[in-house]
Amino acid sequence: MSQAHDIPARADLRTRLIHAGTPDLKDGAGPVNVPVVRTSTVRFADSAAQHRLQAQRGAGERVATYGRHGLDTHAALEEAITTLEGGYRTLLAPSGLSAITLVFLALLKPGDHALVSDSVYAPVRKVDRVLLAERGITVEYFTPGRDALESLLRPRTRLLYLESPGSLLYEVLDLPALAAQAREHGVLVAVDNTWGAGLHHQPLALGAHFSIQAATKYLAGHSDVMMGSVTASNVEHFDRLAATHDALGLAVGPDDAYLTLRGIRTLDVRLTRHQANATEVAGYLARHPDVVQVYYPPLPQDPGHALWQRDFSGANGLLTFAFAQIDPRAAGVFVDALRTFSIGASWGGYESLALEAAPERLGEHTGWPGGRSAVRLHIGLEHPDDLIADLEQAFAAVRERLRRSA
Ligand SMILES: *Cc1c(COP(=O)(O)O)cnc(C)c1O
Repeated sequence: MSQAHDIPARADLRTRLIHAGTPDLKDGAGPVNVPVVRTSTVRFADSAAQHRLQAQRGAGERVATYGRHGLDTHAALEEAITTLEGGYRTLLAPSGLSAITLVFLALLKPGDHALVSDSVYAPVRKVDRVLLAERGITVEYFTPGRDALESLLRPRTRLLYLESPGSLLYEVLDLPALAAQAREHGVLVAVDNTWGAGLHHQPLALGAHFSIQAATKYLAGHSDVMMGSVTASNVEHFDRLAATHDALGLAVGPDDAYLTLRGIRTLDVRLTRHQANATEVAGYLARHPDVVQVYYPPLPQDPGHALWQRDFSGANGLLTFAFAQIDPRAAGVFVDALRTFSIGASWGGYESLALEAAPERLGEHTGWPGGRSAVRLHIGLEHPDDLIADLEQAFAAVRERLRRSA
């Protein structure tokens, strides 16, 4: 594996991220970036080399004996994400969702029970319905902070799966407390860390055994890659994942690995600007008479603000707001009126996006008061004044439409 050159291990994470996975120099020189190594086959010098490398791989070393294992480009990305998460090693998956599925399938057997926070990324429930329930694995959704974890644990509880902040309303969880309780009972803890992107939140340091990311979002950062990752805290937990990863044949293309690594180099500057822009927009929305609530943990009035301040070092461009008007059409009219924002799912790219946060999906979040129309915004890297002007004319369009049809 390539080594970061002479960066002190104690250097700031931002410094180490710039150099993680940089190729070694050969014969006194070499490129800044790892090459895109495209291959399905690994050639061996002779059969002795083949046997030696296969034995090394069998012993758990990061050695590729076949294209599916990923060569230098993949190894460099794994190293960068491992640096970001502060873990032992990372496995790549073709999407964030496949990384989540990998964790559930690797850790749970028929008869097992998993506890899942109720504000998770909605398709987790699809993994449950389509794959887990069918195999006799019971998933139970709970509201951290309201339901006492201790009272929900069963003899076959094997996994506590969390996402903090949650999707759509960004409920911030008390991860250190939840992880400590789970560990007392020998329950493994996995966290979807896509929101914090590793740079602003490190679940493994707060007690989780696995940290998952949809690298599709801020790591890749340019809306041009699908990528997932799971970082394990130690060798024992890594090995449990690795066997299932291998059996599922999960492989990602080297170009996508390269683009994700390239995104990581600018993660800090992009997130800083996403947060600055989103903070301006959140302030504008919080003062707007047509808005009843803004969900953005950096806002002092957000219910998760104190935990966010304690456990996170920054935020990003995601926020959701609920309309003051109690009219189910408001969100649809609003997003249709936007011009600079596009309508679209996913987030983490440089562009601003808007999405109706459908109340039926929010209904699964206990933090949702109900009865409102809501919109999720991803605040991109455009100038915030232009974004606010676009939002302003969309609010006017909603008022006009609701007035005409009153
Ligand atoms: C988008 C997202 C995922 C899924 O990632 P894909 O790469 O789109 O499959 C998982 N978790 C969270 C929190 C997400 O926002």
